[in-house]
Amino acid sequence: MAGPRPVVISGPSGAGKSTLLKLLLKEYEHVFGFSVSHTTRNPRQGEENGKDYHFVTRDEMLRGIEAGEFIENAEFSGNRYGTSKAAVQAVQAKNQICILDIDMQGVRNIKKTDLCPIYLSIQPPSFEILEERLRKRKTESQESLEKRLMAAKLDMEFSKEPGMFDEVIINDDLEDAYSRLKSVLIEEIQKAKDLQN
Ligand code: ADP
Ligand code: 5GP
Repeated sequence: MAGPRPVVISGPSGAGKSTLLKLLLKEYEHVFGFSVSHTTRNPRQGEENGKDYHFVTRDEMLRGIEAGEFIENAEFSGNRYGTSKAAVQAVQAKNQICILDIDMQGVRNIKKTDLCPIYLSIQPPSFEILEERLRKRKTESQESLEKRLMAAKLDMEFSKEPGMFDEVIINDDLEDAYSRLKSVLIEEIQKAKDLQN
């Protein structure tokens, strides 16, 4: 397989995955490309269709899954999410490092494919801090918040499973976590730059 290895970023909702990825995609605009997932959840304020997600109905999503258009898909907190083959191919066609932001079921399923990514987990310093961040973000209903916090407990345990992740990054201080993320990816960044030149 030619081209740089993709990177899977996983971790509980509210850990800071999107925040870190935004920094990375801004600093290395041409090096990384985001795999735009499909989801049945509603867009949050500021989210753009086709950029943050492809926002679709459950019917549309199920049709795509049945047609074999998805590499993986999972139910998370009452909504369906999935990575389409086209989303990954669009990034790889540009010789960019493809970033997949997926939940722990996605991680398990991607491990059964030949994508061969680097697996990173972003974790909060504690469950209490995660809850505080999610509440402050003000994007979730009480019901969704509770579902996400339940899933977070499982995710925090999952990240400790031996061999599951190449690196677990604790997002306590944002700058420190971002530096760690860059240092873990430095070799792939160099490879992608060489390929593009
Ligand atoms: P995720 O994408 O993992 O669900 P977000 O990137 O949306 O998480 O982060 C959750 C919330 O926490 C956001 O409001 C974000 O601004 C905030 N946040 C992210 N990283 C930190 C940090 N290191 N310290 C404090 N707040 C943070
Ligand atoms: P959010 O609704 O906060 O954007 O995402 C909720 C969860 O869904 C996060 O853990 C995120 O990583 C995950 N997620 C986003 N896209 C996908 C996807 O395509 N596949 C899977 N399995 N999970 C996804």
